Amino acid sequence: MLDEVKRIILVLSGKGGVGKSTVSTQLALTLKESGFKVGLLDIDLCGPSVPHILNLEDQNVHQGPDGWVPVYMDSEQRLGVMSIGFLLKSRNDAVVWRGPKKTSMIKQFLEDVSWQELDYLIIDTPPGTSDEHITVMENLRNVPQCSAIIVTTPQQVAIEDVRKEITFCRKTGIPIFGIIENMSGYECPNCSECTNIFSSGGGESLAEISKITFLGKVPIDPRVGMLAGKGQAAVTELPDSTTSKVFIKLVKMLS
Ligand code: ADP
Repeated sequence: MLDEVKRIILVLSGKGGVGKSTVSTQLALTLKESGFKVGLLDIDLCGPSVPHILNLEDQNVHQGPDGWVPVYMDSEQRLGVMSIGFLLKSRNDAVVWRGPKKTSMIKQFLEDVSWQELDYLIIDTPPGTSDEHITVMENLRNVPQCSAIIVTTPQQVAIEDVRKEITFCRKTGIPIFGIIENMSGYECPNCSECTNIFSSGGGESLAEISKITFLGKVPIDPRVGMLAGKGQAAVTELPDSTTSKVFIKLVKMLS
């Protein structure tokens, strides 16, 4: 039930492991901390990591009179979460489905979750451009308030895949809100010095070449990795970190 959602943000990446779920969850948490009402929909059917990152693994969704009721992070119900992970019996269960079954699950996620009124719905997608993406794009292409954020790491090999994501968005008519570069150098938690382990700036130069807004560089910060599994926001736990500043700026750009 998306008619009560003011704005939808798809979070995409060319590769797995680049920090897409970290960006989705930190964006959702920062929006919540900024006073917005937020939904986070995890459609990574084969590797749903949102329940783990937000420390909601033992939670279940249930059917209400208006559809599936999301799992809420807080008593004021400012951040609701829906993931295939809540429907699996155990964390180790695998979803071994062919395309049509995946398609119908995604359609149910888009149509049957009772989000109520939302300022933002963040959709965490699997890496690449698979059945899940095609279904989402087909269902959201005509939704005017929908756009995509692409997450990449700075290396050339990841950047190549981002080009494919850009092409995919342009072909399917979903506007790209911007590119965010994650794991952009290592930020020492003690002295804040940043060392470019892989390289830096690949996402930024691709954004420039492709005439896409560059949303910022999130460094590798072991403290950010440690927030995963606790459901904590960088903006409240690490307020002076570069990560926190990037997400605050991103929320300002979105609002
Ligand atoms: P994806 O969704 O792209 O597969 P994840 O968000 O699950 O990637 O991130 C992969 C791993 O990298 C996780 O263990 C996560 O905690 C860690 N990670 C992601 N971004 C950062 C970062 N900026 N600093 C430190 N660790 C990070």
